[in-house]
Parts: sequence; C-alpha cells; structure tokens
Amino acid sequence: MVTTLFLRCNTKLFACLQPFDLLDKRISSILKALMKTDVIIIGAGAAGLMCAIEAGKRGRSVLVLDHNKKIGEKIRISGGGRCNFTNRSVNASNFISQNPHFCKSALARFAPANFIALIEKYSIQYHEREHGQLFCDGSAEQIIQMLLEECRKANVEIQTCIHILRIEKDTSFHLLTDHMPLEASSLVIATGGLSIQKLGATNYGLRIADQFGINIVSPKPGLVPLTFHSKDFEGFKDLSGISIDAEVRCNKISFRENMLLTHRGLSGPAILQISSYWNPGDSISVNLLPGINILDALKEDHPSKKQLATILEQFLPSRFVKVWLELRGGSNPMNQYSLIELKELARHLSDWQITPSGTEGFPKAEVTVGGIDTDELSSKTLESKKVTGLYFIGEVIDVTGWLGGFNFQWAWSSGWAAGQAV
Ligand SMILES: Cc1cc2nc3c(=O)[nH]c(=O)nc-3n(C[C@H](O)[C@H](O)[C@H](O)COP(=O)(O)OP(=O)(O)OC[C@H]3O[C@@H](n4cnc5c(N)ncnc54)[C@H](O)[C@@H]3O)c2cc1C
Repeated sequence: MVTTLFLRCNTKLFACLQPFDLLDKRISSILKALMKTDVIIIGAGAAGLMCAIEAGKRGRSVLVLDHNKKIGEKIRISGGGRCNFTNRSVNASNFISQNPHFCKSALARFAPANFIALIEKYSIQYHEREHGQLFCDGSAEQIIQMLLEECRKANVEIQTCIHILRIEKDTSFHLLTDHMPLEASSLVIATGGLSIQKLGATNYGLRIADQFGINIVSPKPGLVPLTFHSKDFEGFKDLSGISIDAEVRCNKISFRENMLLTHRGLSGPAILQISSYWNPGDSISVNLLPGINILDALKEDHPSKKQLATILEQFLPSRFVKVWLELRGGSNPMNQYSLIELKELARHLSDWQITPSGTEGFPKAEVTVGGIDTDELSSKTLESKKVTGLYFIGEVIDVTGWLGGFNFQWAWSSGWAAGQAV
C-alpha cells in the first residue's frame, strides 16, 4: 500500500509517496532533513523579531517559534497601547544587572538612533514625553507591523502556536515540538521575562538555562506596585487615586516622579522605578515635598494662629494632609507647636519612612529583574560561553531597564547584536 505524506517546510508543501510500512521509519529522517534551518529563535517578541531580521538580512535561514497565537503581545499593550519604544538618552546606568557593564557593547552598537531611523523609514509618527521617552503617535501595532514587514523582507519564517517539547544538542540543536522535529545550528532564546502570564510569559528560558547548566540570577518582579500591611496603611486606602510629586529613595538610589496611592499600597512611576531596587524587608524613604524647604515655610507662619493643615495644603492634596496629620496627632494652630516639633514634622515630610510588605507580583509587574547570569554570556554576541551556538537575548537576561523605553531598547540592541553573530 502506498500513501502520500504532506509536509510543510518554509512555506513550501512537500509531498512524498511512501509505502505504508516504511512510513514510520522514514518520517523522522525526512522531517529531519526538511526542517533544518540555520537559526531557530524561540520567542517572537521584541528581541526575537529584531534578531530574526538581522540574521535574515545576513542570508541565514531563520525560523521564529512562539507558543502564543499572536506575536509581540507585550509590544501591543506597551505604553498604554502607544509603545514607549526607546528613550532619547540610554546608557548603562539606566539598567539593573549584576554586571552593570554587560549591556554597554550591545547598546553602543545598536543605539536608540538606529531604532529611530527604522521607525522613520516606515514613516511612523512619534513624540517625546518627559525624561526623553519616545512613544508612537498612533498605535503600538505600527511597530509590530514594521517588524513583520522587515521579517518578510529578510525571508524570516514565523510559526505561532508551537510548543517545544524537548531540546537536544549534538553538533546542532534538535527540537522536538508538538508539530514536527526541527534542527538548527544556532538556537536563540528570546522568551522574555516572567511578568503577565496571560500574555504568554513563561519561565521556559530559565528552564533551558537549567538544562544546559547555565547559572541564573534569581528572578523577581520589577516596575511593580508596592503593597503594605493594612495596619501600616490604614487611612491611606481611602485616598486611592491621589497622585503626589515625590522623591522616593531605596538602596542608595532615588527617583523623582509621581507617586500614586492605590487601594493596596503605592504605585505610579516613582514607585515602579524604585520597586526594581527594593528587596523584601527594605524600607523606602519618601520625600513628599522635593525641592521645597518646608521648614522655612513652617517657620514663616510659626507665630500665626493658622492651622498646620492649612499650610501643608498649599503643597499637598488636602485629603492626604488630613490622613497624614491624623497619624501624628492631628492639626493644631501653628503657634501651639514648638520649633523642635516643626523641625520633626519637616523631617517626616522629607523622609517619610515606610516598609512595604511586598509587591503586586509578576501578574502586575512590567518586567523581571534577574534572569540569565550575564557572566555566562558574551556581551558582544550574547552567545553562551558554555554551549556553542546557544544565545540568550532580551528580558530573559539579567539586564533590566528603568521605566521609560529602556527595556525595549535592550530588546532591540541585544537582538540586533545576536543577529550579527548567529
Ligand atoms: C504592561 C507592560 C507594558 C510595558 N511597556 C513598556 C514600554 O512602554 N516600554 C518599554 O521599554 N518596555 C515596556 N515593557 C517591557 C517590555 O515589554 C519587555 O521588556 C520586552 O517586551 C522584552 O522583550 P523580549 O523580546 O525579551 O520578550 P517579550 O516581548 O516578552 O517576548 C517573549 C516572547 O516569547 C514567547 N514565549 C515565552 N515562552 C515561550 C515558550 N515556552 N515557547 C515559545 N514561545 C514562548 C512569548 O509568547 C513572547 O512572544 C512593558 C511590559 C509590560 C508587561
């Protein structure tokens, strides 16, 4: 009996006539031969697509695999749908990593200007917001379409809804998937961070590292709201939605931006930024009046009968002042305070010490801090020092950017650098 086996490879359909009894034996050898490609990239996000484009442009045959139905889900939802795709000024100090120098090489070789040039080539309109953050005028979908068009021009094949069951390595990498076996001489892991599972995030990159004996830096959520025990946050819960220009400090770093009160704790850019530096047990210091000499203001009204709350309401939202003062014995006329008390109040306003109980975790985090230990990788090519042909790029590595377009820039830069090498 003869049967016909249809195989899809690089968008071509192959039909092979097979005697039925030989089918089993031949299937694996035929598939192996057909699905051989130079580069396989796992993860069709920002880093994976950039790497695919660059490798494709160099004439490498590239296959990108993603388990999600849609590619680039985090790009799609980023920046409130407008994708904060980079920042005007990017340098190593905008990143957290056990090796703060690791990111320099890739960032220097594919800088924000290079990505901006690509955006401009596609006539994607964009604008600059505070701190040099660049956003699309229209939609993040434009960035995805641009990357897809670049992939098409570079003959990159993308397959979605593929689940990788096993990876083995001899002289090349053999992938067993729920569709068919695949083989490649270079394997790039671009599976991103752990945040927001419903968008497709998994710990697969870390599991591959484990399989190959590659060290990881313990991952934790970053750019994430902080939570507090209700006893420490009593009264503030009802102030959800109030935003204050604050300077927040933790572990010798500080950020001055808006801080937002939420039902469970604190959020807003200043808190998200500091959360990446926060470790359980640390307290944070909040300067509620950055740039204001509040002691001078208090002293000026010291002889008067004005309420303390009235003075503070000139600088802070009145509902916040009310709760904040209630925790310190309420508001009295100014002339009833001693100078020492006013000094103490001023100190508390510029150094409000609070200890978070935790964070909102990976479901609410924008990024993962930690990941593949940078000591394991070449900073120039992102190739593993232990496993030839194995590369890690993007957020899966222990390189985490600040809020403001830095994480995408790292994805573009590391993807680009590996794309030159695979
Ligand atoms: C809500 C939100 C908003 C953000 N906004 C911004 C912003 O405006 N600016 C900025 O710079 N950064 C932003 N970030 C961070 C940014 O999205 C990431 O740092 C960036 O997407 C990382 O790129 P990546 O390619 O490494 O990973 P990702 O973009 O996460 O891509 C990883 C890909 O791997 C796939 N994958 C995972 N596991 C598997 C598996 N087992 N098999 C196959 N495929 C798999 C995923 O489906 C995904 O497509 C935001 C993040 C979030 C969550």
